[in-house]
Amino acid sequence: MGTAISPNQIDARVSDFIEKPRKMLIDGKWVNSVSGKTFPTYNPATGEVLAQIAEGDKQDVDIAVKAARKAFESGPWSKMSATQRSKLIWKLGDLLEQNVEQFALLETLDNGKPLAVARAADVPLAADLFRYMAGWANKLEGTTIPLSVPYTPKAKYLAYTLREPVGVIAQIIPWNFPLLMAAWKLGPALAAGNTIILKPAEQTPLTALLLGELIMEAGFPDGVVNIVPGYGETAGAALAAHDDVDKVAFTGSTEVGKLIVHAATGNLKKVTLELGGKSPNVVFKDADLDSAIAGSASAIFFNQGQTCCAGSRLFVERSAFDQVVEGVSAQAKKIKVGSGLEADTTMGPLVSDEQLRRVVKYMDIGMAEGARAMTGGKKIGEKVYFVEPTVLVDTKDDMKVVQEEIFGPVVVATPFDTPEELASRANNTVYGLAAGIWTKDLSKAHRTAAALRAGTVWINCFNIFDAALPFGGYKQSGWGREMGKDVLELYTQTKAVCTRI
Ligand code: ADP
Repeated sequence: MGTAISPNQIDARVSDFIEKPRKMLIDGKWVNSVSGKTFPTYNPATGEVLAQIAEGDKQDVDIAVKAARKAFESGPWSKMSATQRSKLIWKLGDLLEQNVEQFALLETLDNGKPLAVARAADVPLAADLFRYMAGWANKLEGTTIPLSVPYTPKAKYLAYTLREPVGVIAQIIPWNFPLLMAAWKLGPALAAGNTIILKPAEQTPLTALLLGELIMEAGFPDGVVNIVPGYGETAGAALAAHDDVDKVAFTGSTEVGKLIVHAATGNLKKVTLELGGKSPNVVFKDADLDSAIAGSASAIFFNQGQTCCAGSRLFVERSAFDQVVEGVSAQAKKIKVGSGLEADTTMGPLVSDEQLRRVVKYMDIGMAEGARAMTGGKKIGEKVYFVEPTVLVDTKDDMKVVQEEIFGPVVVATPFDTPEELASRANNTVYGLAAGIWTKDLSKAHRTAAALRAGTVWINCFNIFDAALPFGGYKQSGWGREMGKDVLELYTQTKAVCTRI
């Protein structure tokens, strides 16, 4: 690994990678699970088993946590300068970029997303994230603090703060952007000097494991990054509850986020959560409607609608409603649903049978509640996990399809009349992850941005991600932020040092 490779070699390397059961990475070694068990991961475009993976559970988690603890307390990592850490993280980003084809192909096989998307978005964004975070490693500075409390007339104090790593971090990630979520989690934790046990989602463990190979190739010391694949209820739960884990960072459903919070109470480990959403996407009548229509379609249909920040509630100012909804429906009809490996595919399958059933169930509930499909509304074919990109109208704000996260290519569209009404309806869910606003009126755009309770607001764009831009949720969409400078606060803790001089 490490050099550019031709398309034929890529296929060979990916097939080599998935041919034998993949092991887990603990203390710098690739090992089987203690139980000897493996679990399958599927190709969602065919429904067939793609690979077998070592199945981590509590016993493996215990060993991995010990390795991470040792690496944190006494290994070479704990003595390394911040600049050395920076170089390793930068190198990891470079290695990823050199292997973009292999990662993209593996991601498409495991997750289903179109290969062109994995190649243009998932892998390069992950590489960028590592390099951005590499830059922070040696810039995490404390402050000097003037004190005003001399207890005796002559006493003077020198006080300063240090920003130190939190310690051993468990990171539990989802299946919608398997590699990118691994990068979002690992990059800042490593920059700040922590050690990690990463648990990829059981549906999509492969690119995280391939990343593990690059982590070793880059030269990270043993035990700094441990990767334990397995199921949520076993490996994930063991990590969240572990007494020797200092922090758990989770991305996934709000439902599981609440379980994580409960599990963390035993040792009061720190918790950060990036959870679900039901993001409003607002089109004012004075917007550039062509770009609002294209942007609103991509806001919901990107990644098969399986993004936590998907623009799943489309609010359109009444006089533009018909035009925008017809436009978004026309875009939906143009989407080519198929295997992510086919060149003309613009939407792949959903990730799993479970996800397909969930999305179809919501479509059925929506229709039963009185919604109407302008387009879509059904699954495609009998086999595997394809669904039609769907636009639902005639909805009411209290319907399940309007309130609950579907996590599929289903948007509910509704008209609004005034900015005040819009803000109160747009804020009327338990979520607050993201929002979109389309208008040419800058004042209106910024007033609306201020009125929306969301961690990210995109104006005249949607789904713009950048390693420098903090991302995370208001309300039940989460605790804390990913990326940007903000995330580093959450992987460090402040030590105040006070000296009488
Ligand atoms: P989804 O329902 O979309 O699959 P989840 O929130 O269930 O999303 O999964 C996100 C991640 O959380 C996955 O890595 C999964 O294995 C893990 N997970 C699921 N249940 C638990 C749990 N009870 N404790 C810890 N992790 C869990």
